[in-house]
Amino acid sequence: MSFPVFDLHCDTALGLLGKELCGGIELKSNDLHIDLDRAKTLPGYAQCFACFTTPFMEQWYKKSPVEIFEREMAMILHQMEKNPKMIRQVYSAEEVQKNQEKGIMSGILTIEGPAGFGFDPALLEDLQTIGFRMTTLGWNEMNVLTGSHKTGGGLTDQGREFVKEAQRVGMMVDVSHISDEGFWDIMDITEKPIVASHSNSRAVCDNSRNLTDDMFRAICQSGGVAGFNQCAPFVGEKPDLDTVCDHILHFLELDPEGEHIALGGDLDGCDELPEGFDGVQSYPAMAAKLLERGVDDTILRKIYWENALGVMEVCCT
Ligand SMILES: [Zn+2]
Repeated sequence: MSFPVFDLHCDTALGLLGKELCGGIELKSNDLHIDLDRAKTLPGYAQCFACFTTPFMEQWYKKSPVEIFEREMAMILHQMEKNPKMIRQVYSAEEVQKNQEKGIMSGILTIEGPAGFGFDPALLEDLQTIGFRMTTLGWNEMNVLTGSHKTGGGLTDQGREFVKEAQRVGMMVDVSHISDEGFWDIMDITEKPIVASHSNSRAVCDNSRNLTDDMFRAICQSGGVAGFNQCAPFVGEKPDLDTVCDHILHFLELDPEGEHIALGGDLDGCDELPEGFDGVQSYPAMAAKLLERGVDDTILRKIYWENALGVMEVCCT
């Protein structure tokens, strides 16, 4: 049994950009975690491609986050345009569904870290027009919108304005990487479902990047989803597919109908993956393991496809 895959987060844009600087690489076929040839083996595929930026990029690459943001966006749009029979950029959940029916993959632009546009809420409307459909308030840094899971500290007034404006223009607000205080500040003001695009269960793996049970319950109450992150340090010690299942099964104890669990693999954003999960092509193996551990077909289809699609439909209109 194999299911279409809707994945809420990857860092393939930066991955491709990094490789480009060393001589060129293609989305169609590469040695990263995600390429179109491997994704094509799935019975349907929608991928959120994050344009990731942080102020740390000045130190890391000696380039401004603004330049890197623009180059990531250009890279992913260009790569989709080069492969129109395989993948198309989409702006709505309806287009994802239509592509799926036609056997075409869908690519959705998303934002991980608003450093690339100066944390400016006034720019969200233009970014929405370009096609961005989800945004975090930051990465691991403390910034003008909020503290992160590394620094602590809640939302500033500009952070509250950012959340309101993102929801007004039709972008999903993504709480992955935020501090616990910032998470609850967002929950106090949100008017739409909240997404943790790539965050696991802190009860199963105690890491500040993961969600406490109370946080996951709050996401459920908002009507949102948490996307399962394959990055090994957030899954467990020497994790394998059973460790992956432990997270999903724990979330299912809190959400027995499986309406609020999704996928957000963080592929190409992490060095180490669980044993048995090598890239986008491994989603069927993970589904087989979940079936073996007692999760039924109906719930798996929701986790793999329907839940993320539903939240996109509600938030991005
Ligand atoms: Zn991330």
